[in-house]
Amino acid sequence: MLNVNIPPDKHVEVLDGQGWIGLIDMMGSETTIVNAARVSFGKLRTEMNEKDVELLKFLIENKHTSPLEHLMFTFSVHCPLFVRSQWHRHRTWSYNEISRRYTEFDITFYTPHQLRIQSKDNRQASVEGSNINDTELKSLIDKNNKDSYKLYEDLIARGVCREQARGVLSQNMMVTFWATVDLSNLLHFLELRDHPHAQWEIREYAQGIKKLIAPYLPHLAKYLKCNV
Ligand SMILES: Cc1cc2nc3c(=O)[nH]c(=O)nc-3n(C[C@H](O)[C@H](O)[C@H](O)COP(=O)(O)OP(=O)(O)OC[C@H]3O[C@@H](n4cnc5c(N)ncnc54)[C@H](O)[C@@H]3O)c2cc1C
Repeated sequence: MLNVNIPPDKHVEVLDGQGWIGLIDMMGSETTIVNAARVSFGKLRTEMNEKDVELLKFLIENKHTSPLEHLMFTFSVHCPLFVRSQWHRHRTWSYNEISRRYTEFDITFYTPHQLRIQSKDNRQASVEGSNINDTELKSLIDKNNKDSYKLYEDLIARGVCREQARGVLSQNMMVTFWATVDLSNLLHFLELRDHPHAQWEIREYAQGIKKLIAPYLPHLAKYLKCNV
């Protein structure tokens, strides 16, 4: 399994259990932020007091973001290809991904649990609630996923290289990557991607990240209204 070795308290399932995100590693804490902000005073705090919490709030509200850059997080992400495309637009993260040039195993696909309809007033958006035949259309999506995999396997069996055969796999194919980011850029990501304008699927991951980091950043989480 691709999520091997991620303890349950550092692992969140998303997309109705079809995707997940895990916290692999992190560096720093809330005291790191206030210590960095007060570096000129040469004093190190080991616990947060009321003044520190106020300072934290001040830094966030005034976009004094450099002290936040001393905290780092590494996540392992299992998501559909189209979510990965949106995620990788965030250039301030570092990424490594399992290569489909290298392996042809563990290929799975996302089938939406619920289909949304196209928004009429926003060309990028969708809306919930519809009278489309969910069951029939979901089974067609599932069939397309399977057909694309079948063609992929046929191409491989007939000698085509993995790097070309993968082109036929559907956009719903699940991919797994590691992603590392500092807290300042992570908050920027969460602002954009846990937002009503963002696609529901990537919002699931942004909300998953909030759950994962909240126990380590309790004051910040409360302030940002993360689901602690
Ligand atoms: C709801 C939504 C809809 C979107 N729709 C589209 C779309 O239709 N088409 C499309 O192409 N993209 C789209 N995007 C992607 C969007 O344009 C950004 O590429 C993406 O959100 C990454 O944001 P970012 O550049 O701020 O993040 P990051 O790349 O993580 O950068 C963080 C910050 O660092 C600074 N920075 C990073 N790189 C540079 C640089 N080279 N020069 C100057 N400053 C830099 C900027 O201040 C930036 O805000 C959409 C994003 C969202 C959230």
